[in-house]
Amino acid sequence: MQTFDVMVAGGGSAGIAAALAASRTGARTLLVERSAQLGGTGANALVHTFCGLFHPDVSHPPQWLNPGIPTEIGEHLLTASGRNKPDLMGRVYVLRHEPAEFARLAARLCAAEPALTLRTAADLVSLRRDGDSWRFITSAEGQTTESTARHVVDTTGAAALAALCSPESHVVAEGERLYRPALVCRITGLAGPLDEHAPLQLAATLVRAVRSGDLPAAAMGAGFRQSPVRGDEVFMTLDLEAGGAAWNPLHQAALEAVKQEAHALAGAIWRHLTAHHPLFASSDRIVMPEQLGVRESGRWKGDHVLTAQELRESRRFEDEIALAGWPLEFRETARGPKFVYFDKPEPAGIPARCLRTAEVPGMFFAGKCLSCDHEALASVRVMGTCLATGQAAGRLAAGL
Ligand SMILES: Cc1cc2nc3c(=O)[nH]c(=O)nc-3n(C[C@H](O)[C@H](O)[C@H](O)COP(=O)(O)OP(=O)(O)OC[C@H]3O[C@@H](n4cnc5c(N)ncnc54)[C@H](O)[C@@H]3O)c2cc1C
Repeated sequence: MQTFDVMVAGGGSAGIAAALAASRTGARTLLVERSAQLGGTGANALVHTFCGLFHPDVSHPPQWLNPGIPTEIGEHLLTASGRNKPDLMGRVYVLRHEPAEFARLAARLCAAEPALTLRTAADLVSLRRDGDSWRFITSAEGQTTESTARHVVDTTGAAALAALCSPESHVVAEGERLYRPALVCRITGLAGPLDEHAPLQLAATLVRAVRSGDLPAAAMGAGFRQSPVRGDEVFMTLDLEAGGAAWNPLHQAALEAVKQEAHALAGAIWRHLTAHHPLFASSDRIVMPEQLGVRESGRWKGDHVLTAQELRESRRFEDEIALAGWPLEFRETARGPKFVYFDKPEPAGIPARCLRTAEVPGMFFAGKCLSCDHEALASVRVMGTCLATGQAAGRLAAGL
């Protein structure tokens, strides 16, 4: 039986920041992650653009939005990508990064913290209140370990801990409104980098293939972005309808079925492009991600439910612990994003009450499973904001 001050469940953007923040206060911290590598969706689903790291006013030079770990990680990734400033994409600054570099950086930063214990390739399988602390079981390669912690942080991206210990606090949107999942894959060995005309040319190639019956209509959900570090690699993001109202990312079988379908479609698109697009003719490989990209599943209902209106009005709160600056990026269909910008280019506050509930003392939550409505999630789920709320949850859990 190991005893910790803080246990963080889920090693994605929010969990990494929570574990670093808690352990840097000296709190004995455990980070439990199901995958073999850290990074969550940002690494295992090949998400390659950090959003939400910068102040939303792009009439000024880029300015880091949240101090501490979000800025530290952002600066590392910017340097690793060989750039000295982020990219301006329309009305927002973004940091394009290599997902594997994010995983390596997370591992390095965590290994440098003496108060932090890592359990990767381990699943948190049970959790219960025991007096004034938590008792929980993790499972790795068939072996279970029981431990205790005074405080717990849920950064599972799905509010998995609410499902375990407080089902009434677990919120799940209806299937047809859930933001659509996507498969992001890496395509290597291109003849050269995508130029400014490439996105239109690729879209035209896919439209012709769909019209001629060579590819199914779902191929129109594909978009392409250059790797930030390699001229001969692109990421293909394939947005998926995933069965509309029947889509349920909390069911393993549903996830697996959509993943298999998406793999088959991505493979067919790649083969078509190698035969019909000169840049792809020399492509030698399509690399599938470890995980399907799930944009929304379950989240917590906390003491405050952050709303889209509060974000749009750039509302500030006395108990705010982080700032959100990314526009509402709606993804309720596979036909691409619909952006709704804040009313003015000013960030909004996220109150500490979105990271906890009086119903479950000693529990904090952050990242894409914090307490907000479906519309607000369209903004606060981006990785820069997840780092910021994760950092805050880690500090709260450590008693700061
Ligand atoms: C296709 C797609 C494209 C996106 N594009 C962008 C983008 O361009 N820019 C951007 O900033 N954001 C983007 N996002 C959003 C962003 O990637 C996620 O919202 C964000 O990474 C969520 O971070 P998180 O830490 O809350 O959760 P996650 O990164 O999902 O991490 C949760 C972790 O918890 C682990 N876990 C779950 N249950 C357990 C358990 N029981 N035991 C142990 N571990 C567990 C999981 O394995 C996972 O690693 C995109 C998302 C998707 C799906």
